[in-house]
Amino acid sequence: MHGRVARTERLTPGMVRVVLSGGDLDHLVMPDATDAYVNVAFRPAGASYDEVFEPTDVREATPREEWPARRRYTVRSWDATVRELTLDFVVHADEGVASRWALNAGAGDVLVFTGPSGGYRPDPAAHWHLMVGDESALPAIAASLEALASDERVAVRLVCDGPEHEIDLASPADVDLAWLHRHGDERDESLLVAAVQALDFGGTAPSGFVHGEADEIRGVRRHLLEERGLARRDLSCSPYWRRTMTDEAWRRIKREYVAAMEAEAIAS
Ligand SMILES: Cc1cc2nc3c(=O)[nH]c(=O)nc-3n(C[C@H](O)[C@H](O)[C@H](O)COP(=O)(O)OP(=O)(O)OC[C@H]3O[C@@H](n4cnc5c(N)ncnc54)[C@H](O)[C@@H]3O)c2cc1C
Repeated sequence: MHGRVARTERLTPGMVRVVLSGGDLDHLVMPDATDAYVNVAFRPAGASYDEVFEPTDVREATPREEWPARRRYTVRSWDATVRELTLDFVVHADEGVASRWALNAGAGDVLVFTGPSGGYRPDPAAHWHLMVGDESALPAIAASLEALASDERVAVRLVCDGPEHEIDLASPADVDLAWLHRHGDERDESLLVAAVQALDFGGTAPSGFVHGEADEIRGVRRHLLEERGLARRDLSCSPYWRRTMTDEAWRRIKREYVAAMEAEAIAS
């Protein structure tokens, strides 16, 4: 599947919105999820195949160095009427295939992907909701906030580099939102867990959505399961990326990392 860049927008110094249209978006089927994501395929420079390609065919027909780089991106929104798909890319200071692509994206550029698929939608039966993450989880959290009803309650804790990196979030629900700003040192890794530790749960357990940098969200997960008594079924938690690792390096160890993470707080 592919779309073409209709327009881009610099949401913050660290985030670029890319709106896709055309291509074969007419055939896109959105799952019933607010964390739906696409698996994007970036063609390497100098590749021998066309800009519109089928990732599995390319893997069969070309040597490994020509295979596309794969990255996952959340569907921030899908407008089924005009068939427009919106993705928000963190453009981080570290070199990255996807980050670089988004920074340079211009009208007409092709983006190839598979999906979307996804699994989370805020449960309307929850006592209240807790959403925690960094910029990479912001598209899913923003979409989830929009999907809440006016009689629902949510606490949101988000980490970013500073006030200019904050994004306006809309929700019909009763929202307790706090942005945490990184210091640029080792304290950053515990900002999210400290913010969740400081929350008054008021005697009821929330339904949680916790996604972002692997080690940061692992600490939050442990706290929620071990110290706050959250049931695993009430927690959507996955590491979206890993500090100091490219996605290729991360995917090589991700299964093992997630298994070790899942083995924690096994009693809950
Ligand atoms: C299901 C799912 C949904 C996701 N949705 C989104 C989304 O909507 N928007 C989004 O921006 N990301 C999202 N991500 C995360 C994104 O796929 C990764 O951050 C990816 O590594 C970025 O690729 P890259 O080519 O830019 O950098 P890479 O080549 O993978 O990495 C290069 C360097 O940049 C660092 N890096 C990677 N990501 C970040 C970051 N977010 N902040 C700071 N440094 C980073 C790496 O640690 C590495 O040192 C999602 C991930 C998953 C699994």
